[in-house]
Amino acid sequence: AAKREGGGRWTWFDTVMDQLADSDARLGADLRQAILRDQLFLVYQPIVELPHGRLAGVEALVRWRHPEHGLIPPGIFIPLAERNGQIVELGRWIVEQAVHQTARWVREYGADAPEKVSVNVSARQLNEPGFPAEMAALLSAAGLDPERLVVEVTETAVLGTGIALDAVRALHDLGLRIALDDFGTGQSSLSLLVECPVTWLKVDKSFVDGVTTASPQAVIVDGLIGITRGLRMQAVAEGVETAEQAARLYQAGYRFAQGYHFARPMPHSDVELLFGGIRPDNSLLEIARR
Ligand code: C2E
Ligand code: MG
Ligand code: MG
Ligand code: MG
Repeated sequence: AAKREGGGRWTWFDTVMDQLADSDARLGADLRQAILRDQLFLVYQPIVELPHGRLAGVEALVRWRHPEHGLIPPGIFIPLAERNGQIVELGRWIVEQAVHQTARWVREYGADAPEKVSVNVSARQLNEPGFPAEMAALLSAAGLDPERLVVEVTETAVLGTGIALDAVRALHDLGLRIALDDFGTGQSSLSLLVECPVTWLKVDKSFVDGVTTASPQAVIVDGLIGITRGLRMQAVAEGVETAEQAARLYQAGYRFAQGYHFARPMPHSDVELLFGGIRPDNSLLEIARR
């Protein structure tokens, strides 16, 4: 009300804020129903090994088919679920789906099943006291080797609280692998690489975008290879969209990549067609032979 005293100057602002809060509340209510009504599903994006393009793993990504609004991107509803706390229930459902899908793949495809399946876990989930124990119970019920599962966390999520870092360590002790997602874009602290048992360093798309130009981003992409080698981590380049980027990343020392150039996120039935197969990327093979 105080904001309106200056002769209506803030009315527009108030209206927009009210609408945002309103749509937040409405979408949140819809999201509560989404699991029950079968509107959520996971898609899987290949992570490939360079230069030959062998499937090294897949990343599970959640999708929401809203009855009126169509597909709502996770960039909208995951932050909403983080704000209103729904992420705990939603995240539990996502992890369960990913674990069950992976166990099915191992049963049905054996050695051709993806070696690694990554699942994104948010700060709120990491800070739930029972999370590592829940994960252990889930894996053992599904009969899945913990090493097959990669938990993707962001720097900001892990740096937030001591509880989150403890959770990451507990997950690692259980045998799961940890990936540091969107690396370089959060509240980065290199000491995190010392304190946190990271196996995969996922170099953010914003750096990969600049890799074919003379840019600070390209220098950082090059530099991170030295760090990952020295610390015995694996670097994964995210958001690779062109053959030129892939070739340049390979030359810089990257052996793992993910992005639209290789494959988009897809339903499980589509990604299964790639299991065990190699789709050679000739432009890369040529560079590899030099
Ligand atoms: P992320 O974990 O970094 O996932 C990678 C995102 O980049 C995905 O977007 C993927 O579709 C997109 N991407 C991959 N390759 C390319 C490319 O070559 N070009 C471009 N422009 N984009 C590419 P998506 O699926 O929309 O997810 C966005 C973010 O939402 C994720 O970023 C992650 O932070 C979050 N998210 C998605 N699924 C989940 C989930 O199941 N749980 C949680 N907690 N967060 C999730
Ligand atoms: Mg991720
Ligand atoms: Mg990522
Ligand atoms: Mg990213």
